[in-house]
Amino acid sequence: MPKIVDHGLRVGDHLDFRPSDNVRVWLRRRSLRYCHHCCYIKPSFDFSFKSSKVCVACRPLIQERCRATSRALYARVREQVVQAYGGKCACCSEQRREFLAIDHKNGGGNKHRAMAGGYGLPFLLWLCRNGFPNECRLLCHNCNMALGIYGYCPHENPPIASQ
Ligand SMILES: [Zn+2]
Ligand SMILES: [Zn+2]
Ligand SMILES: [Zn+2]
Repeated sequence: MPKIVDHGLRVGDHLDFRPSDNVRVWLRRRSLRYCHHCCYIKPSFDFSFKSSKVCVACRPLIQERCRATSRALYARVREQVVQAYGGKCACCSEQRREFLAIDHKNGGGNKHRAMAGGYGLPFLLWLCRNGFPNECRLLCHNCNMALGIYGYCPHENPPIASQ
């Protein structure tokens, strides 16, 4: 017969330690929960899900932190990819990062991205894992669009100057 221990915790108590499993069970029996973010004891209805580790007040903070972390990760990986592909547009040497994009020399970019697990980060990570295959290159959006629409870029095929 397990000993009944009164942990004496109440709503609003702040813990400096992670409660043990025993304490968590004890809390749950009293419709109380511990928030892993603010470290307060809160009533169960302050948590959106049975499995939530953080209270509803803390959820947006955590989500914002996640978003900030993934934005930073994306920027770091993208910079790595950009540098691996020479850091500038293969056609006009544009270097401003905002103008640059990964291009597939022989098309098939969408299929390739789908295969790599999606646009954005999954695709960039795929490029890293696969040693930056040279079927891809860096182009600025201008050169990329011109190639896509006209099949050539005016940079390499200067239009004949008007007489
Ligand atoms: Zn909280
Ligand atoms: Zn360019
Ligand atoms: Zn160009």
